[in-house]
Order: sequence, then C-alpha cells, then structure tokens
Amino acid sequence: MEKFDLIEECKDAKTIFISGHVRPDADCVSSCLAMYMYLKKALPETKVKVSLEEPAEVFRCIKGFDEIDSTYAADNEVDVFIALDCEKSRLGEAGEIFANAKKRINVDHHVSNGRGCGDVNYVVPGYSSTAELVYDLFDRQYMDMEIAKAVYIGIAHDTGIFKYSNTSPKTLRTAAELIEYGFDFPGIIDETFYEKTYAQNQLLGRALLESIVFMDGKCIVSAIDKKTLDFYNATSKDLEGIVNQLRVTKGVECAIFMYETGSLEYKVSLRSCKYVDVSKVAAFFGGGGHVRAAGCTINGTFYDVANNISKQIELQMKAHEEENK
Ligand code: 5GP
Ligand code: MN
Repeated sequence: MEKFDLIEECKDAKTIFISGHVRPDADCVSSCLAMYMYLKKALPETKVKVSLEEPAEVFRCIKGFDEIDSTYAADNEVDVFIALDCEKSRLGEAGEIFANAKKRINVDHHVSNGRGCGDVNYVVPGYSSTAELVYDLFDRQYMDMEIAKAVYIGIAHDTGIFKYSNTSPKTLRTAAELIEYGFDFPGIIDETFYEKTYAQNQLLGRALLESIVFMDGKCIVSAIDKKTLDFYNATSKDLEGIVNQLRVTKGVECAIFMYETGSLEYKVSLRSCKYVDVSKVAAFFGGGGHVRAAGCTINGTFYDVANNISKQIELQMKAHEEENK
C-alpha cells in the first residue's frame, strides 16, 4: 500500500486525537507517542491529544508518557482521529470517538486488519511494526532524538530485538538511521525489554515449570491463573515475554500461553516458528494478529481452551505434513 502525505491530511485539523489498541504493547505506545511528538512539532497550532489504556511503567522513558490520557476524554469534536497498530474493533473506549471523528487515519501492520479501517490508510501486513510505518510518514525536518528513540523502541520490541522474520533489510536500515540521533539504544532495550522484576521472573518460572508439551513436542501450552497473578500482585503487563520463551523450546513449532481474565475467560497469546499461521488460529476465535504472533480471548476452562486451540493448530500441522509427504 502506498503511503500518504501525513501533514497534508492533518494540516486543516484543529484537533487531532491519537490512539491505539487495548492493552497497549511497546509498538502501540511508541507509535502513538512518536506520532504525538511529531505532530505537535510539525503543526504547532493544532491541538493534539494522545489517549491509551495505562501502559506499562517501563515506557515512562519515552517522552510524552505523562501526557497520555487514559480517561479517553475528547473535549471537542475530533477533526482527525489517528488509529495506530490496530483495527477499529480493538480501540476499546476510543472506538466511539473514532466513529464520530470527521476524518479517520489508520496505520497498522496486522494482517487481520485487511486494507484498513480509516478514510486514509497505510496498512502493510508483514511490516516489522507500526513504528516503522509511522516513521515512513515523517518528514525528516521535524525528526529529533526523542522521536527517534520512541520509533526505535517500537521497532525493536515488535521484532524481538531485530530477530523475528518480520525484520527486513529496510527495518535494519531504519534502525541504523535512528541510532544516529544519539540516544542510549542499548540502555533503553535493557530497561524496556530484558529487565524483569522479581515477580515477573517468578511468573515466568512458574509458567515454564507448569508448561505441557504435546503433539510429539511440537506444541507447548502454559497458563497463569487469576489466583497466581493476585498472589504476586501482578497484572497482564507482567506476563510479557513468557510466550516467547515457550516458543524457543527445542522442537516446538507452536506456543500457547494464556492467563485468566475472568471467570472461565482466558486471554490467549499464540506464537509459531516456521509454518503454522497463528493469525488464522486466532481469527477462528474472533481475535487476530500476525502470521507468527497473534492473540484472542476464549471462554472455558484451561483444558477447554487448550483443546479447542490445539484442534485448530493440528489441522494446520496435518495439512503441512500432507504437503511435505
Ligand atoms: P500478544 O500475544 O503479544 O498479546 O499479541 C500478539 C499480536 O496479536 C499483537 O500484534 C497483538 O496486537 C495481536 N492480538 C493480540 N490479541 C488480539 C485480539 O484479541 N485481537 C486481535 N485482532 N489481535 C490481537
Ligand atoms: Mn505492532
């Protein structure tokens, strides 16, 4: 999909409202804050607002973090709504503001988003991150170190620090360009990606210890229940990275991690290594995502959820085996 002229699309707006998906991850927070900083600089007369569900504290290192409004207050009519890293169904409380905005812009890299949900779209499935897409739209004359740092964090996280298959030569060239701005790139990656609190490590440990492998070791599943989360005084933000650790178990093609969000309700994260398209599995249950990383919410007991998902994965594995006979 061709990119559009961001300044041209926004220059007549009096109010711009930026938001992203519920339970915002690094790419979502970074893209929203980079866009926020950029538009404030490029269009100083325009009122720009950024609203998201409360992000994890580690992202406080990104400039503008304190200006994120988690109450979703849109005081006046919104001229331009910029939806980042998601389709409209995942905007949560911002969904209504999106629906009433005069113009809607959508920038995203999820395959499940189709051609986009805006009046103006820049949706490229397979792209490393929304942060990389957002950076494509920026006029370099307004770039600065803080914007570069935000974009870098988004790209680095969504590529698993430049190692997932969504990392393209262009992604690395973009990262090279960004570090020229001179921020502490090893430091922010340690701080936002690798560093774990004691409770986070304990939860990771428990998830690994209690994991179950099946389908001849090609699948692995684990869960954290509500009681355990409460015991560690933890939230879903403390579970980031667990599914990735499950995925790198030798012999595993597909990893399933879930945590209890309510009575008989689980938020499920799916990852695959080489051939299972987990975005299809997630979409079957009303979720979505990427080919190698996707998610959904499913009702039932742990065993119901694990069984139902496994069936969908098994179908793909069988088809893959047939193709390779
Ligand atoms: P995670 O497992 O890290 O929560 O999500 C993996 C990927 O799938 C992310 O890109 C995320 O945005 C997407 N994703 C997670 N849950 C859902 C969901 O319920 N619906 C959709 N459409 N995408 C999801
Ligand atoms: Mn993303």
